[in-house]
Amino acid sequence: MSSIAVLGLGAMGTRMAARLIAAGHAVTVWNRSPQASEPLRALGATIASTPRIAVQGADIVIAMLFDDAASRTVWLDEKTGALGGLSASTLAVESSTLTPAWLQELGAAVTARGAAFIDAPVAGSRPQAEAGQLIFMAGGEAAAIERARPVLLQLGGALHHVGPLGSGAWLKLAVNSLFATQVAVMAEQLALLRAAGVDPERALAALKAMPVTSAAAGGAATLMLARNFAPQFPVDLIVKDLGYAVCSAERVGASSPLTAAVAERYKAASASGFGAENLVAVSKLHD
Ligand code: NAP
Repeated sequence: MSSIAVLGLGAMGTRMAARLIAAGHAVTVWNRSPQASEPLRALGATIASTPRIAVQGADIVIAMLFDDAASRTVWLDEKTGALGGLSASTLAVESSTLTPAWLQELGAAVTARGAAFIDAPVAGSRPQAEAGQLIFMAGGEAAAIERARPVLLQLGGALHHVGPLGSGAWLKLAVNSLFATQVAVMAEQLALLRAAGVDPERALAALKAMPVTSAAAGGAATLMLARNFAPQFPVDLIVKDLGYAVCSAERVGASSPLTAAVAERYKAASASGFGAENLVAVSKLHD
Protein backbone atom coordinates (compact mmCIF):
# COMPACT_ATOMS: atom_id res chain seq x y z
CA MET A 1 0.00 0.00 0.00
CA SER A 2 1.20 3.50 -0.76
CA SER A 3 1.10 6.88 0.86
CA ILE A 4 -0.93 9.03 -1.56
CA ALA A 5 -1.78 12.74 -1.55
CA VAL A 6 -4.84 13.94 -3.48
CA LEU A 7 -4.96 17.66 -4.29
CA GLY A 8 -8.41 18.91 -5.31
CA LEU A 9 -11.65 17.49 -3.94
CA GLY A 10 -14.17 18.51 -6.56
CA ALA A 11 -16.63 16.11 -8.17
CA MET A 12 -13.84 13.89 -9.52
CA GLY A 13 -11.12 14.25 -6.87
CA THR A 14 -13.48 13.36 -4.02
CA ARG A 15 -14.56 10.14 -5.70
CA MET A 16 -10.98 9.20 -6.61
CA ALA A 17 -9.74 9.82 -3.06
CA ALA A 18 -12.57 7.72 -1.63
CA ARG A 19 -11.62 4.80 -3.87
CA LEU A 20 -7.97 5.03 -2.84
CA ILE A 21 -8.95 4.96 0.83
CA ALA A 22 -11.21 1.95 0.20
CA ALA A 23 -8.27 0.21 -1.53
CA GLY A 24 -6.29 0.53 1.72
CA HIS A 25 -3.85 3.34 0.88
CA ALA A 26 -2.81 5.96 3.43
CA VAL A 27 -4.47 9.01 1.81
CA THR A 28 -3.86 12.65 2.66
CA VAL A 29 -6.15 15.20 1.01
CA TRP A 30 -6.14 18.93 0.50
CA ASN A 31 -8.80 21.21 -0.99
CA ARG A 32 -9.02 25.00 -1.34
CA SER A 33 -12.44 25.01 0.33
CA PRO A 34 -11.83 22.99 3.50
CA GLN A 35 -15.42 21.78 3.95
CA ALA A 36 -14.99 19.39 1.00
CA SER A 37 -12.46 17.42 3.05
CA GLU A 38 -14.83 16.48 5.87
CA PRO A 39 -16.57 13.49 4.19
CA LEU A 40 -13.13 12.07 3.42
CA ARG A 41 -11.96 12.55 7.00
CA ALA A 42 -14.90 10.35 7.99
CA LEU A 43 -13.64 7.69 5.54
CA GLY A 44 -10.16 7.77 7.09
CA ALA A 45 -8.23 10.42 5.15
CA THR A 46 -5.71 12.73 6.77
CA ILE A 47 -6.54 16.38 6.10
CA ALA A 48 -3.71 18.76 5.22
CA SER A 49 -3.92 22.52 5.54
CA THR A 50 -1.80 23.27 2.45
CA PRO A 51 -0.76 21.38 -0.71
CA ARG A 52 2.86 21.54 0.51
CA ILE A 53 2.02 19.79 3.76
CA ALA A 54 -0.20 17.28 1.95
CA VAL A 55 2.57 15.99 -0.31
CA GLN A 56 5.30 15.65 2.33
CA GLY A 57 6.27 11.99 2.58
CA ALA A 58 3.89 10.90 -0.18
CA ASP A 59 4.90 8.17 -2.62
CA ILE A 60 2.41 9.46 -5.18
CA VAL A 61 0.62 12.80 -5.54
CA ILE A 62 -2.50 13.00 -7.71
CA ALA A 63 -3.88 16.45 -8.61
CA MET A 64 -7.48 16.84 -9.85
CA LEU A 65 -8.08 20.57 -10.25
CA PHE A 66 -10.28 22.77 -12.38
CA ASP A 67 -7.87 24.38 -14.83
CA ASP A 68 -4.33 25.64 -15.58
CA ALA A 69 -4.69 28.56 -13.18
CA ALA A 70 -5.77 26.31 -10.30
CA SER A 71 -2.98 23.84 -11.06
CA ARG A 72 -0.38 26.63 -11.19
CA THR A 73 -1.44 27.96 -7.78
CA VAL A 74 -1.64 24.55 -6.12
CA TRP A 75 1.74 23.35 -7.39
CA LEU A 76 3.80 26.54 -7.54
CA ASP A 77 2.55 28.99 -4.91
CA GLU A 78 5.69 30.27 -3.20
CA LYS A 79 4.49 29.61 0.34
CA THR A 80 2.02 26.74 0.08
CA GLY A 81 2.67 25.11 -3.32
CA ALA A 82 3.08 21.33 -3.53
CA LEU A 83 6.36 21.65 -5.40
CA GLY A 84 8.17 22.74 -2.24
CA GLY A 85 7.07 19.58 -0.40
CA LEU A 86 8.16 17.04 -3.03
CA SER A 87 11.09 14.73 -2.45
CA ALA A 88 13.13 12.86 -5.04
CA SER A 89 11.19 9.66 -4.31
CA THR A 90 7.78 11.21 -5.08
CA LEU A 91 5.86 10.54 -8.29
CA ALA A 92 3.63 13.50 -9.21
CA VAL A 93 0.59 12.82 -11.40
CA GLU A 94 -1.47 15.63 -12.94
CA SER A 95 -4.90 14.19 -13.80
CA SER A 96 -6.72 17.48 -14.38
CA THR A 97 -7.60 18.43 -17.98
CA LEU A 98 -4.96 21.08 -18.73
CA THR A 99 -3.00 22.54 -21.63
CA PRO A 100 0.05 20.64 -22.87
CA ALA A 101 2.03 23.91 -22.65
CA TRP A 102 1.37 24.28 -18.92
CA LEU A 103 2.15 20.61 -18.31
CA GLN A 104 5.56 21.05 -19.94
CA GLU A 105 6.28 24.02 -17.66
CA LEU A 106 5.10 22.18 -14.57
CA GLY A 107 6.96 19.01 -15.56
CA ALA A 108 10.21 20.97 -15.85
CA ALA A 109 9.70 22.44 -12.37
CA VAL A 110 8.91 19.05 -10.79
CA THR A 111 11.77 17.18 -12.43
CA ALA A 112 14.18 20.00 -11.50
CA ARG A 113 13.40 19.05 -7.89
CA GLY A 114 14.34 15.46 -8.65
CA ALA A 115 10.79 14.04 -8.49
CA ALA A 116 9.10 12.17 -11.35
CA PHE A 117 6.13 13.67 -13.21
CA ILE A 118 3.48 12.38 -15.62
CA ASP A 119 0.28 13.80 -17.05
CA ALA A 120 -2.62 11.37 -16.78
CA PRO A 121 -5.96 13.00 -17.56
CA VAL A 122 -9.07 10.85 -17.61
CA ALA A 123 -12.03 10.00 -19.80
CA GLY A 124 -15.22 9.19 -17.92
CA SER A 125 -17.27 11.25 -15.55
CA ARG A 126 -18.65 11.03 -12.02
CA PRO A 127 -20.18 7.52 -12.31
CA GLN A 128 -16.96 6.12 -13.80
CA ALA A 129 -14.87 7.81 -11.08
CA GLU A 130 -17.11 6.26 -8.44
CA ALA A 131 -16.98 2.81 -10.04
CA GLY A 132 -13.22 2.86 -10.73
CA GLN A 133 -13.85 2.78 -14.47
CA LEU A 134 -11.97 5.88 -15.60
CA ILE A 135 -9.73 5.65 -18.66
CA PHE A 136 -6.31 7.23 -18.14
CA MET A 137 -4.36 8.76 -21.04
CA ALA A 138 -0.82 9.18 -19.82
CA GLY A 139 2.23 11.08 -21.03
CA GLY A 140 5.73 10.81 -19.64
CA GLU A 141 8.64 8.43 -19.26
CA ALA A 142 7.75 4.74 -19.35
CA ALA A 143 9.34 4.02 -15.95
CA ALA A 144 7.22 6.70 -14.25
CA ILE A 145 4.05 5.49 -15.98
CA GLU A 146 4.73 1.94 -14.79
CA ARG A 147 5.20 3.20 -11.22
CA ALA A 148 1.81 4.90 -11.42
CA ARG A 149 0.02 2.04 -13.16
CA PRO A 150 -0.98 -0.13 -10.15
CA VAL A 151 -2.52 2.83 -8.31
CA LEU A 152 -4.19 4.38 -11.37
CA LEU A 153 -5.71 1.01 -12.24
CA GLN A 154 -7.46 1.07 -8.86
CA LEU A 155 -9.21 4.20 -10.17
CA GLY A 156 -9.69 3.15 -13.75
CA GLY A 157 -10.26 0.25 -16.07
CA ALA A 158 -7.51 1.24 -18.52
CA LEU A 159 -4.32 3.25 -18.76
CA HIS A 160 -2.96 4.16 -22.19
CA HIS A 161 0.64 5.36 -22.35
CA VAL A 162 0.33 7.75 -25.28
CA GLY A 163 3.86 9.18 -25.49
CA PRO A 164 6.12 11.78 -23.84
CA LEU A 165 4.94 14.32 -21.27
CA GLY A 166 1.92 16.25 -22.52
CA SER A 167 0.73 13.44 -24.83
CA GLY A 168 -2.02 12.48 -22.39
CA ALA A 169 -3.29 16.05 -22.41
CA TRP A 170 -3.25 16.23 -26.22
CA LEU A 171 -5.29 13.04 -26.48
CA LYS A 172 -7.69 14.17 -23.75
CA LEU A 173 -8.36 17.45 -25.62
CA ALA A 174 -8.99 15.40 -28.78
CA VAL A 175 -11.39 13.09 -26.93
CA ASN A 176 -13.35 16.01 -25.51
CA SER A 177 -13.42 17.83 -28.85
CA LEU A 178 -14.86 14.69 -30.49
CA PHE A 179 -17.40 14.16 -27.71
CA ALA A 180 -18.53 17.79 -27.50
CA THR A 181 -18.91 17.99 -31.27
CA GLN A 182 -21.06 14.85 -31.38
CA VAL A 183 -23.26 16.10 -28.54
CA ALA A 184 -23.74 19.53 -30.12
CA VAL A 185 -24.60 18.16 -33.54
CA MET A 186 -26.91 15.56 -31.97
CA ALA A 187 -28.77 18.39 -30.21
CA GLU A 188 -29.06 20.24 -33.52
CA GLN A 189 -30.29 17.21 -35.48
CA LEU A 190 -32.87 16.12 -32.87
CA ALA A 191 -34.30 19.66 -32.88
CA LEU A 192 -34.35 19.65 -36.68
CA LEU A 193 -36.13 16.28 -36.80
CA ARG A 194 -38.71 17.51 -34.30
CA ALA A 195 -39.26 20.71 -36.32
CA ALA A 196 -39.73 18.60 -39.47
CA GLY A 197 -42.44 16.55 -37.76
CA VAL A 198 -40.34 13.40 -37.23
CA ASP A 199 -40.76 11.77 -33.80
CA PRO A 200 -37.31 12.21 -32.16
CA GLU A 201 -37.79 9.12 -29.94
CA ARG A 202 -38.35 6.86 -32.93
CA ALA A 203 -35.59 8.57 -34.87
CA LEU A 204 -33.16 8.03 -31.99
CA ALA A 205 -34.07 4.35 -31.67
CA ALA A 206 -33.11 3.95 -35.34
CA LEU A 207 -30.01 6.12 -35.05
CA LYS A 208 -28.71 4.10 -32.12
CA ALA A 209 -28.74 0.97 -34.26
CA MET A 210 -26.51 2.60 -36.88
CA PRO A 211 -22.70 2.78 -36.77
CA VAL A 212 -22.80 6.53 -37.36
CA THR A 213 -24.10 7.02 -33.79
CA SER A 214 -21.39 6.50 -31.16
CA ALA A 215 -22.37 5.04 -27.79
CA ALA A 216 -21.48 8.41 -26.22
CA ALA A 217 -23.65 10.39 -28.67
CA GLY A 218 -26.53 7.93 -28.24
CA GLY A 219 -26.34 8.20 -24.47
CA ALA A 220 -26.24 11.99 -24.65
CA ALA A 221 -29.28 12.00 -26.94
CA THR A 222 -31.23 9.85 -24.48
CA LEU A 223 -30.50 12.39 -21.73
CA MET A 224 -31.56 15.27 -24.02
CA LEU A 225 -34.91 13.67 -24.86
CA ALA A 226 -35.50 12.90 -21.16
CA ARG A 227 -34.53 16.52 -20.43
CA ASN A 228 -32.13 15.19 -17.83
CA PHE A 229 -29.54 17.92 -17.33
CA ALA A 230 -28.24 16.81 -13.91
CA PRO A 231 -24.52 17.62 -13.88
CA GLN A 232 -22.05 14.92 -14.79
CA PHE A 233 -19.72 16.74 -17.14
CA PRO A 234 -20.83 20.37 -16.80
CA VAL A 235 -21.04 22.85 -19.69
CA ASP A 236 -18.46 25.14 -18.07
CA LEU A 237 -15.87 22.34 -18.02
CA ILE A 238 -16.32 21.66 -21.74
CA VAL A 239 -16.10 25.41 -22.46
CA LYS A 240 -12.72 25.36 -20.70
CA ASP A 241 -11.56 22.22 -22.53
CA LEU A 242 -12.59 23.40 -26.01
CA GLY A 243 -10.84 26.72 -25.34
CA TYR A 244 -7.71 24.75 -24.41
CA ALA A 245 -8.05 22.58 -27.53
CA VAL A 246 -8.27 25.60 -29.85
CA CYS A 247 -5.45 27.62 -28.25
CA SER A 248 -3.19 24.54 -28.01
CA ALA A 249 -3.79 23.76 -31.70
CA GLU A 250 -2.79 27.34 -32.57
CA ARG A 251 0.45 26.95 -30.63
CA VAL A 252 1.52 24.06 -32.85
CA GLY A 253 0.30 25.72 -36.06
CA ALA A 254 -2.72 23.44 -36.57
CA SER A 255 -6.15 24.78 -37.39
CA SER A 256 -9.31 23.59 -35.65
CA PRO A 257 -12.22 25.54 -37.14
CA LEU A 258 -14.84 22.90 -36.28
CA THR A 259 -13.77 22.71 -32.65
CA ALA A 260 -13.83 26.52 -32.49
CA ALA A 261 -17.37 26.59 -33.90
CA VAL A 262 -18.52 23.94 -31.40
CA ALA A 263 -16.93 25.92 -28.58
CA GLU A 264 -19.19 28.85 -29.47
CA ARG A 265 -22.28 26.67 -28.93
CA TYR A 266 -21.19 25.73 -25.40
CA LYS A 267 -20.21 29.31 -24.62
CA ALA A 268 -23.73 30.32 -25.68
CA ALA A 269 -25.15 27.62 -23.39
CA SER A 270 -23.06 28.93 -20.52
CA ALA A 271 -24.10 32.53 -21.25
CA SER A 272 -27.74 31.34 -21.17
CA GLY A 273 -27.24 30.17 -17.58
CA PHE A 274 -26.64 26.45 -18.20
CA GLY A 275 -22.96 26.41 -17.21
CA ALA A 276 -23.38 24.16 -14.16
CA GLU A 277 -25.65 21.68 -15.97
CA ASN A 278 -24.53 18.57 -17.85
CA LEU A 279 -23.12 19.31 -21.31
CA VAL A 280 -26.29 17.90 -22.94
CA ALA A 281 -27.90 21.19 -21.84
CA VAL A 282 -26.45 22.58 -25.09
CA SER A 283 -29.70 21.16 -26.54
CA LYS A 284 -31.65 23.86 -24.65
CA LEU A 285 -30.31 26.39 -27.16
CA HIS A 286 -32.85 24.83 -29.58
CA ASP A 287 -35.88 25.21 -27.25
P1 NAP B 1 -14.95 20.57 -9.97
O1 NAP B 1 -15.97 19.73 -9.31
O2 NAP B 1 -15.32 21.91 -10.49
O3 NAP B 1 -13.72 20.71 -8.95
C1 NAP B 1 -12.66 21.60 -9.24
C2 NAP B 1 -11.59 21.50 -8.17
O4 NAP B 1 -10.59 22.49 -8.47
C3 NAP B 1 -12.10 21.79 -6.75
O5 NAP B 1 -11.37 21.03 -5.84
C4 NAP B 1 -11.77 23.28 -6.61
O6 NAP B 1 -11.65 23.71 -5.27
C5 NAP B 1 -10.43 23.32 -7.30
N1 NAP B 1 -10.05 24.66 -7.70
C6 NAP B 1 -10.65 25.45 -8.61
N2 NAP B 1 -10.00 26.62 -8.73
C7 NAP B 1 -8.98 26.58 -7.84
C8 NAP B 1 -7.94 27.48 -7.49
N3 NAP B 1 -7.82 28.66 -8.08
N4 NAP B 1 -7.06 27.09 -6.54
C9 NAP B 1 -7.16 25.87 -5.95
N5 NAP B 1 -8.12 24.97 -6.24
C10 NAP B 1 -9.01 25.33 -7.19
O7 NAP B 1 -14.30 19.80 -11.23
P2 NAP B 1 -14.20 18.23 -11.49
O8 NAP B 1 -15.42 17.81 -12.20
O9 NAP B 1 -13.77 17.53 -10.26
O10 NAP B 1 -13.02 18.22 -12.56
C11 NAP B 1 -11.66 18.28 -12.16
C12 NAP B 1 -10.79 18.12 -13.40
O11 NAP B 1 -11.10 16.89 -14.04
C13 NAP B 1 -11.01 19.22 -14.44
O12 NAP B 1 -9.78 19.56 -15.05
C14 NAP B 1 -11.96 18.57 -15.44
O13 NAP B 1 -11.84 19.14 -16.73
C15 NAP B 1 -11.49 17.13 -15.39
N6 NAP B 1 -12.52 16.13 -15.74
C16 NAP B 1 -13.79 16.26 -15.27
C17 NAP B 1 -14.74 15.32 -15.64
C18 NAP B 1 -16.19 15.39 -15.18
O14 NAP B 1 -17.03 14.71 -15.76
N7 NAP B 1 -16.52 16.17 -14.16
C19 NAP B 1 -14.39 14.24 -16.46
C20 NAP B 1 -13.07 14.13 -16.88
C21 NAP B 1 -12.14 15.08 -16.51
P3 NAP B 1 -12.94 24.30 -4.46
O15 NAP B 1 -13.67 23.11 -3.94
O16 NAP B 1 -12.34 25.15 -3.43
O17 NAP B 1 -13.74 25.10 -5.48
